[in-house]
Amino acid sequence: MIVAPKIRGFICTTAHPEGCAQHVAQQIAVVKNRGLIENGPKKVLVIGSSTGYGLSSRIAAAFGSNAATLGIFFERPGEGDRTATAGWYNSAAFEKEAAAAGLYAKSINGDAFSDEVKKETIAAIKADLGKVDLVIYSLASPRRTDPKTGEVYKSVLKPVGESYTNKNLNTTTGVVNEITIEPAEGDDVDQTIAVMGGQDWDLWMDELIAADVLSEGVQTVAYSYIGPEVTWPIYKNGTIGRAKEDLERVQKALDTKLAPLKGKAWVSVNKALVTQASSAIPVVPLYISLLYKAMKAAGSHEDTIEQMDRLLRDRLYNGNPQPDEAGRIRVDDWEMTPEIQAIVGKRWDEVNTENLAELGDFEGYQSSFLRLFGFGLEGVDYSKDTDTSIGVPSLK
Ligand code: NAD
Repeated sequence: MIVAPKIRGFICTTAHPEGCAQHVAQQIAVVKNRGLIENGPKKVLVIGSSTGYGLSSRIAAAFGSNAATLGIFFERPGEGDRTATAGWYNSAAFEKEAAAAGLYAKSINGDAFSDEVKKETIAAIKADLGKVDLVIYSLASPRRTDPKTGEVYKSVLKPVGESYTNKNLNTTTGVVNEITIEPAEGDDVDQTIAVMGGQDWDLWMDELIAADVLSEGVQTVAYSYIGPEVTWPIYKNGTIGRAKEDLERVQKALDTKLAPLKGKAWVSVNKALVTQASSAIPVVPLYISLLYKAMKAAGSHEDTIEQMDRLLRDRLYNGNPQPDEAGRIRVDDWEMTPEIQAIVGKRWDEVNTENLAELGDFEGYQSSFLRLFGFGLEGVDYSKDTDTSIGVPSLK
């Protein structure tokens, strides 16, 4: 089948298998070029391992530290004239590369919020790995089914308290206009916390502790975002920010639970980057376009793989995690420098549809978005037939 991008708002409904493989290969190359991480992780569970930050975490652990990885995700295989999701092709490519490098890699495709997938994961750890020494929690989902009650929680991206009006970018047309988002109502905040907060991370860690599958000195990390004030009403102080606060509550509770194992839980605050999850947040794509331009000009731009390599290499495994006053790891440090923020802040006031190409990196935004789905990668012939039915080796 010949596969082209089909973009619907902020999602692309097709994915290119060879393009995704190329994207994974490029990420592997970045990590390998940096050499081995000394005393890095050896047996790693990645929950949300197929795209974005989770995929890059898996690649950084495997190819930066020769780690065995068990990856959990929720993706769809190709069927008939429908391509698989990008995360499916990414995972197929990752496993192939891992096998070629002699590294253990196994995947579980299913709902990570469910008891069944937690049980299946523990059985796989016991059978193949014994124990794991790093647990990465990188889920991003619009909904979660409570495993105990069956209730379906839905997360929303809304300000809290009052409506929020600001500039917004239509990422398909490049038009900069204004958007007003009405505040959360009813139980929106609680629902969002139930999906994107720390409850499920806590459940995972409880199960892993009870099953005795965590090594002494185990570390676990979940990802968060803070960003600049201009985005606070929709992010840090919005419904999603409340969920991220809940992650910090759980991080502290997990520190206590892991103390007998001399373990440590972390929240890592990562940089704003184009991923499937971040494209859905209003206002943020315009900020990302301005940020990319400023950081590329300063030579400090990173993508998910550079971020996750730095998290493992320069924070979690070098004995110097450099926590902030709230105990969080900050790999958003380069994004948040006063110099970068001053440039972005000034351009935020000035930006409009006409000057977007000059002040922002809209082209970079769009090409990063397409790359998430395997499009626009060098060395891939997009006019050629490609096999869209490929499987993930460990799931066959
Ligand atoms: P993403 O959409 O690329 O990845 C989400 C992952 O979760 C995928 O592997 C997907 O398969 C998996 N997933 C979703 N629902 C699942 C389910 N029910 N069961 C199993 N797997 C499921 O998102 P991302 O941007 O990489 O986000 C990961 C984390 O990083 C989130 O906590 C997000 O808030 C955080 N973060 C993102 C950014 C950013 O700019 N993208 C910045 C800082 C922090």
